[in-house]
Amino acid sequence: MSSRLAAPLVAALVALAAPVVPGAAGATEVEPFGAPPDPAALVEEERRVWSAGDDLDRSIRRARNLVRDEALLAYVGSVLDGLYPDFRGTIVLKGVLRDADPNAFVLPNGSVYLTLGLVGVLGSEAQLAVVLGHEAAHFVHRHGYQQMSSAKSMSAFGVGLTVLTGGIGAIGSLALAGAFYGYSRDHEREADRAGFERVVRAGYPPQAGVEAFERLAADAKLYDRKQPTFFASHPSMLERTEAFRELIAALPAGQGAGQGAGQGAGHAAATGNAAPAASAADPDPARVLRYRQATARARLEYLRLAAETGRHRSIVALLEAPFQAGEVEPAAAFWLGEAYRLRAGEGDPDRAVGVYRAVLERDPGQAAAWRGLAEIERRAGRMAEAADAYRRYLDGAPGAVDREAIEAELGRLQRSDGSGTGEPEPAGQGETR
Ligand SMILES: [Zn+2]
Repeated sequence: MSSRLAAPLVAALVALAAPVVPGAAGATEVEPFGAPPDPAALVEEERRVWSAGDDLDRSIRRARNLVRDEALLAYVGSVLDGLYPDFRGTIVLKGVLRDADPNAFVLPNGSVYLTLGLVGVLGSEAQLAVVLGHEAAHFVHRHGYQQMSSAKSMSAFGVGLTVLTGGIGAIGSLALAGAFYGYSRDHEREADRAGFERVVRAGYPPQAGVEAFERLAADAKLYDRKQPTFFASHPSMLERTEAFRELIAALPAGQGAGQGAGQGAGHAAATGNAAPAASAADPDPARVLRYRQATARARLEYLRLAAETGRHRSIVALLEAPFQAGEVEPAAAFWLGEAYRLRAGEGDPDRAVGVYRAVLERDPGQAAAWRGLAEIERRAGRMAEAADAYRRYLDGAPGAVDREAIEAELGRLQRSDGSGTGEPEPAGQGETR
């Protein structure tokens, strides 16, 4: 999977770097696009940068790491079009990458990508709009092209190429593709400002600007990363949220802080929320509902991917408080049980049991919760209870992909139960997939 993407990416990046003659375009002032440009009418250097973007699009498609969720794509695309109606068809959402790390990037040809992690971590359409508005602003202001022309970006490419040829994985490469452009602080500020203008103009609560970045920062902090991937080369989070507060304060009366802003963006960032109805700062119930429906599958899919890739802390941060408030549907709550079980810290097995039982009480069809319970019983040495729970799992999930493994486990349990020893097995991670 990794090498498949890395080679074309390298080729595309070499193509991006090739036309650069130090100082060639750097001196001239580059105006933002006032309307969708005709790629053929661009100067040669920019045309090459643009077509290198096309190459990257193809590489990403070939890597087959895109989420297949037409409803989600149509929805996110419509949010993007709502922000940039004048660039419809030019700034285009090309895909959602199956990567649990929250990230987004735009290519110099207007192709926008985001990750499943971004959809999972953000909590409202307004927050999503903030990120999309920012990325699209990089395109409108031709930051990719401008950055290509500077010596600084050449060295950023050098670093990137080394990392790529050093064989990092596809997901890492993709994350890098966005970071590659290494936009300057000035460009980042410009994208924040221009994107924010679009967000406000489209009628979103301005407070979403602060919220979105706080959420992303809170998630990055769980893993001791200073900056979310999205901000790899960006101004500091603090600087950024401050800048957003200033932008909000500068809005004309009636558009600013009072409007749907709500307190506690920080709280929302800390607790997260998988049930966006209760989520922060969007006073438009129709929009909240639309967001909730269009992203439901993706947010569930994110939880699965996050559990599979060891992002247990994100799941707990996202779901713990809403679960306790009774706001999380059983299918999503199951992943909170999984996150506790897999995190396996002090008290986590009990927490997991509590969640699994609540899930089964509300929806007996969530048979996988029985498997989670069985794993915990088995690790605690309660073999009869474990066997019983495994059986309930298989009864409830006749088509389970892990049926064979579970039946084998059941056989072992019954033997050990018969002998009466009931020795707890050393805890494997118990993940059956
Ligand atoms: Zn940026």
